[in-house]
Amino acid sequence: MLLDGRTCLVTGASKGIGRGIAEELGSNGANVVVNYRSSEEAAHEVRDTIEEGPGSALTAQADVADFEAVQTMCNAVTEEFGHVDVLVNNAGITVDKKFENMERDDWERVIDVNLGGVYNCTKACFDDLRQAENGRLVNISSVVGQQGNYGQANYATTKSGLFGFTRTIALELAHHNSTANCVAPGFVKTDMLAEVPDRVKEQILERIPLDRFAEVDDIAGIVRFLASEESSYMTGQVLGVNGGMEW
Ligand code: NAP
Repeated sequence: MLLDGRTCLVTGASKGIGRGIAEELGSNGANVVVNYRSSEEAAHEVRDTIEEGPGSALTAQADVADFEAVQTMCNAVTEEFGHVDVLVNNAGITVDKKFENMERDDWERVIDVNLGGVYNCTKACFDDLRQAENGRLVNISSVVGQQGNYGQANYATTKSGLFGFTRTIALELAHHNSTANCVAPGFVKTDMLAEVPDRVKEQILERIPLDRFAEVDDIAGIVRFLASEESSYMTGQVLGVNGGMEW
């Protein structure tokens, strides 16, 4: 199996893209840590699905924005699986408002999870990623970080921020033979997209050459590739998976 025995921590894996990634890595033989914040039952379902296949899984509750909670989660992972080979920073939120209405709190909530969470999780796993044979960091950004998007100044800022973060960590991991890459999905059929009004969704669809929103599996397959040895000579890259949207 492509990921046999590799331990992969996927943040925000109870739903949506994270769930798809966790199940894809598990179906390739990985030991998957299914992180979630509040959706415990859903996280347990993901774990059970993975356990039915060749992989093994563990659920781990932690708000990625909480530094101490992330440290505790990573200690539990170490106890169970020894170390982390692959970290997928997927957990993310939106708090959409036109900038004129965006309060400081709306700004900070998104920064704390989407960037603070990436700092906390990468920090907690950094030694593991350096020491692992072929350690892998995969950050889930967005086409919105490349293009900007009306009403998403906070979110777009966090998703652009991941580009600089990924490239820098790629440099710092390179001489340990570990890599860091970024996936920038277009618009994917999850709860996050479900919150977008239909009128706006129609306008978005007109800008997608492949004329459909992404399925979770369109993203999960790319992450499986980045997590595997097949991507060994790729680092510091941003992979757009967006149906051909220009930016
Ligand atoms: P989603 O369906 O809303 O799921 C979000 C997941 O993140 C849930 O599992 C949620 O767990 C978890 N989460 C949220 N805040 C968390 C926190 N503070 N700590 C730990 N887990 C937390 O979102 P999605 O659409 O799958 O998006 C996943 C990632 O892809 C995000 O980074 C998003 O920015 C990015 N993305 C999404 C799209 C899209 O169109 N959907 C496009 C481009 C990029 P709980 O339910 O347990 O809270």
